[in-house]
Amino acid sequence: MYQDLVQLADNIWLYPRDDNLEVEQPNIGAVILDDATILIDAGNSPRHARGIMSALADMNAPPVDYLIYTHHHWDHTFGGMVYSVPYIIAHKDCATILAEYEKKTWSASHLREEMYQNPSLKGRNNSILSAVSDWRGFRINMPTITITSHLSLYIGGMTLDISHVGGRHASDSIVVGIRERKVAFIGDCLYAPPVHSTDEEQTVPIKGKVFNRLFDEGYETFIEGHSKPLKSKDIQLALKGLIKSDD
Ligand SMILES: [Zn+2]
Repeated sequence: MYQDLVQLADNIWLYPRDDNLEVEQPNIGAVILDDATILIDAGNSPRHARGIMSALADMNAPPVDYLIYTHHHWDHTFGGMVYSVPYIIAHKDCATILAEYEKKTWSASHLREEMYQNPSLKGRNNSILSAVSDWRGFRINMPTITITSHLSLYIGGMTLDISHVGGRHASDSIVVGIRERKVAFIGDCLYAPPVHSTDEEQTVPIKGKVFNRLFDEGYETFIEGHSKPLKSKDIQLALKGLIKSDD
């Protein structure tokens, strides 16, 4: 079973999140051009990713040429293996963490053992267990292009500005702005840190300059990982308190 894509602007589509937050099935962005499709985030599982692929096929969307991970969290990356995509873009720290994930033997028994050893992982691991029911052949689809600060991707008359913002939710968070459409996909970067994150991870500052540039350029629509599309004024409000004046 899968959902329909929802149009946000010319060429810009959304495969909507599941509103039940326990399911942890985030928003997925799709930039659908004449000859290529670009996906922003992979889905929380092979099942979720296959739903996205079915929705794209219904629209006769061109092949997925680029996949962008907004950050390393499982609900944004564990669908990656479904896409035979030539380019996967992520922050360099996302690639480092996913390389560690890649070495792990993923299975239901491993996840249960892990949360037994570390009870703070209980919520996360139970959500993974409900999202991924079959671990046979599971693998992480690794980034092929990593960024440290910024990358502009020019493709099919569209400019995707990909910028590292960091922040307490995940230090590897990036945002993706589609310059000609003034729509930005910002992942989870404004959210609270996951309960299992360390004190050190929770103090990583968010780069307010990146957002200020988007506001200056007139971006109006912002898509977070797990909520309905927001306007710039909502984002400016959310940023208050997260940004120091000199960031
Ligand atoms: Zn996250």
